[in-house]
Amino acid sequence: MKTNKPKALYVHVPFCDVICAYCDFTRVVTHPKLIEDYLYALAQEVKLYPDIDFETIYLGGGTPSALNSDQLTTLFEILKDYSHQVKEYTMEVNPESLSKEKAELMVKYGVNRVSFGVQSFNQDELVFMHRAHTIDMIRNGIKILRDAGINNISIDLIYALPNQTLDKWEYNLNQALTLNIDHISLYALTIEENAEFGRLKIKPIESELEEQMYFTAIEFLKKHGFNRYEISNFTQSKPSMHNLHYWNYDDYIGLGPGAVSLYQHKRIENTKNLLYYSQFKFHGNIIDLSIEDEMFEFVMMGLRVKNGLSINRFKERFNQDIEVVFKSAITKGISHKWLILENGYLKCTDDGYGLLHEILVEFMN
Ligand code: SF4
Repeated sequence: MKTNKPKALYVHVPFCDVICAYCDFTRVVTHPKLIEDYLYALAQEVKLYPDIDFETIYLGGGTPSALNSDQLTTLFEILKDYSHQVKEYTMEVNPESLSKEKAELMVKYGVNRVSFGVQSFNQDELVFMHRAHTIDMIRNGIKILRDAGINNISIDLIYALPNQTLDKWEYNLNQALTLNIDHISLYALTIEENAEFGRLKIKPIESELEEQMYFTAIEFLKKHGFNRYEISNFTQSKPSMHNLHYWNYDDYIGLGPGAVSLYQHKRIENTKNLLYYSQFKFHGNIIDLSIEDEMFEFVMMGLRVKNGLSINRFKERFNQDIEVVFKSAITKGISHKWLILENGYLKCTDDGYGLLHEILVEFMN
């Protein structure tokens, strides 16, 4: 199997000012000493991967913008040597923790894309989720980013909230358009056992309504020039280069607690324990991936993308022909009109896109 150079760097910043009621990510409430220890450990972890020219960097979390300007400067300095060739440098930002000073700092260190944690334009929904921002902060934040020179902005929106009506969801979609941004990521709320909603035994909405919200969004966004290029991601012209590396099954490095790497035929899962991490015990699990694992994962990730997966890239990576390896799954998918082979790509049809889980079961067999 070919060994691939990682192209994408993900850095997990596990700090938030407030913990949202639905969240079970790896995160803790901001604390100066914890942040200091984390940054010190991160500076050591990054040295495990010297001399890699990444095409993309993504600072996620947690909430990277919850770091103050001094802490952010330290973070950017740690990553500086890795950012020279970077084409896309994304940072997740929450409206309540953005300032002019931070936006200018981001630009100074090369951040050229922001994933902005909007989630909703209904203040009652924001309060219900324990989000810390207001609608004014959303609009003000977009202005701060643009004034600093960041125009490549994506926003996150959450749907399928308990008590959310279709009308309220449509209102959110309409308001999103008024920001004149280029990229929107949609997330259906899941009630996680370990999050506050789970502990409070909040009931999810009916699956039919959730589906209706999803398809309403697809139609609405399409009408307004947003192309669905991945199951939950829509853009007018700027797909996320970083996420495309994941979906293309390129190797990537993940740093920070809870981050995951795909590196030299291994999945490296970092510890989620911030204390262990700060003691430089970075890695939790290291899993050797068999060629069968990798071939399946290549398909699983590639079919999420509307343009599908490249037959040639599969051949280059595994030295095998996808139409031979997965003959039965592909034949069945094509006969059901769930899959098509077109111009060197295997992709889902519109009908198949909604049945991805069922399609992948065939590839597993
Ligand atoms: S959803 Fe995001 S901002 Fe909210 S607690 Fe989780 S990581 Fe932090």
